[in-house]
Amino acid sequence: MGSVTRKPLIAGNWKMNLDHLQAVAFVQKLHWTLKDAAHETDSVEVAVFPPFTDIRTVQTLIDADKIPFALGAQDVSTKDSGAYTGEVSGAFLKKLDVDYVIIGHSERREYHGETDEVVAAKVQAALRHGLVPVVCVGETLEQREESGPTAVSVAQLRAALEGVPSDADVVVAYEPVWAIGTGQVASPEQAQEVCAALRTVISESLGDSAGERTRILYGGSVKSGNIASFMREPDVDGALVGGASLLADEFAAIIRYQKHVGV
Ligand code: PEP
Repeated sequence: MGSVTRKPLIAGNWKMNLDHLQAVAFVQKLHWTLKDAAHETDSVEVAVFPPFTDIRTVQTLIDADKIPFALGAQDVSTKDSGAYTGEVSGAFLKKLDVDYVIIGHSERREYHGETDEVVAAKVQAALRHGLVPVVCVGETLEQREESGPTAVSVAQLRAALEGVPSDADVVVAYEPVWAIGTGQVASPEQAQEVCAALRTVISESLGDSAGERTRILYGGSVKSGNIASFMREPDVDGALVGGASLLADEFAAIIRYQKHVGV
């Protein structure tokens, strides 16, 4: 669809791994690894999503050493402030120069009971504070068998985009639940099929221009050995990487996917 160039985004979701000291060492190692490999930083956007307790430290390091990584958070409150013990406001994240926030990750949906309504409210909270939501959608194996490959993701994305203005900056991540942390990977064709359906949802919900410019990531057991095959697909604009984003050499190799054959 269209002729707009979408800058690839490789995003590392650290989940509940790496404390703030380990995070510093990791970010430095990743940066040096990419530098040593003469990685062209303009070719791909890199984002790291540390736990909340690391964000201030990582932000200070990125800022001081001018490391060209975007910073993300793994969740945001639907509320802006007040008596909500344990919640983190989008306003606080913005103050820490956070760029992105993951919303609706399957682990939040599964372990914290986040519904489509909560996900939509979090998307609104992110946008209110100038954060770019990375909206995660994806089906379980049972759902895939019951309703096909696209139905669940399409419905989840429609709900998440409810009330989002057409000029909003949003990223979408298709993460089949059966492929997260399992080593079981969707085929590039399976990823493309769902990502194309999601692009149609974006166009229908936010207009054709949003459909053309919005980046859609694939996530689920992405590794250096398979990233290039996903990036060849026309509607896959990057990857949300879990386990492999915790290994500096491996994550650097994923970021450098353009050096692998024929992308
Ligand atoms: C994720 O947590 O979003 C993810 C895709 O994890 P993994 O890469 O480990 O499957």
